[in-house]
Amino acid sequence: MNLVLMGLPGAGKGTQAAEIVDKYGIPHISTGDMFRAAIKEGTELGLKAKSFMDAGNLVPDDVTIGIVKARLRKDDCQSGFLLDGFPRTVAQAEALENILSDMDRSIDFVLNIDVDKEQLMERLTGRRICKQCGATYHAIFNPPENDGVCDKCGGELYQREDDNEETVKTRLEVNIEQSKPLLTFYDQKGYLRNIDGNQGIKKVFIDIDQLLGGLK
Ligand code: AMP
Repeated sequence: MNLVLMGLPGAGKGTQAAEIVDKYGIPHISTGDMFRAAIKEGTELGLKAKSFMDAGNLVPDDVTIGIVKARLRKDDCQSGFLLDGFPRTVAQAEALENILSDMDRSIDFVLNIDVDKEQLMERLTGRRICKQCGATYHAIFNPPENDGVCDKCGGELYQREDDNEETVKTRLEVNIEQSKPLLTFYDQKGYLRNIDGNQGIKKVFIDIDQLLGGLK
């Protein structure tokens, strides 16, 4: 089962990735996680990636494609993989086609968790975090018992500076523009499957599961 997971910030990609990996036993390959781990370990890759990530830019394609190629050749990818955060550009998508075709494999589905922009705005701007213990809440979907106070430790809740409406809107717009050519690329290849991510977490997974069940 060879999968690519796509979705805008706040679409619930992380939650669904965990469910997919759990049920289908394929490795979750997140390039963002791989870069963060490399930075933490202080490896050469980490050093290369850090400056780009800190500046909010994409890590150059040659570096990113190289780590994905090496990762996909590992034994645990024999029965499949779930790519998350890669590809992010059409050049990366084309490179992935070549990497897979060299291995006599191809993508089964590109799952795009599709959520309305208004809903994403609400999800992202509603996030509240405890100053003391870091627990996260949502002003509407997962509020604390007492307004502004952490249920777990009684600490004060705050809103991250980059979760404000203007910044979130810009972040979403940049992401929408970046993902458009990729979605077109995968649509033309016939891999793209849009999943309605406006529904509850469980229902979204039921839809994904139904689609993937047909692959086994
Ligand atoms: P993420 O956790 O997926 O949001 O990724 C965090 C950061 O890692 C991004 O902002 C990029 O700097 C870098 N990164 C992750 N995936 C890629 C990719 N496919 N291509 C280039 N840079 C990436």
